[in-house]
Amino acid sequence: MATRTREQLITPSGEVELAQALDQPMRRLLGRSLRLRSVVAGSCGGCESELFALSNVVFDMARFGVEFVASPRHADGIVITGVVNRNMVEALERTYAAVPDPRIVIAVGACAASGGPFRDSDAIAGIPASIPVDLWIPGCPPHPLTVLDGLLRLLGRLDGRHPAAAPG
Ligand code: SF4
Repeated sequence: MATRTREQLITPSGEVELAQALDQPMRRLLGRSLRLRSVVAGSCGGCESELFALSNVVFDMARFGVEFVASPRHADGIVITGVVNRNMVEALERTYAAVPDPRIVIAVGACAASGGPFRDSDAIAGIPASIPVDLWIPGCPPHPLTVLDGLLRLLGRLDGRHPAAAPG
């Protein structure tokens, strides 16, 4: 499940920490209409396949007001996939800078969180500290429902425990 910090992705006790919502002013701004620019930063392509499935008729994230856009100038935030290899750091930073404030950052997949299966490569820079991540979505790749669940929790449109954790 998606979390607000990278540390919360690690669950040694098995206790899952569900993502908390953005603060009230941000929810008022973004809760009904969220435009996201995808930044593919050294990915195998698996994470994007699942992300773009969110726009099909099965998952249809547009019904929640969430859509991908072509330009960061039109976006409320960015979605980062891939390990962020050294050659992509500048492009990522420039894309982030082009998104008007206030903006959010969502890191999708094991590669974005830790380098994933490529974590020992010298080519990896990781997400720069100058880009604060608001939501970490785990998986290799994450299921579209995991992404949707995290997004809706971040926007304050879904709360409570994960259904799998409910008693009986
Ligand atoms: S997390 Fe997995 S699916 Fe996503 S880019 Fe990395 S290797 Fe590919």
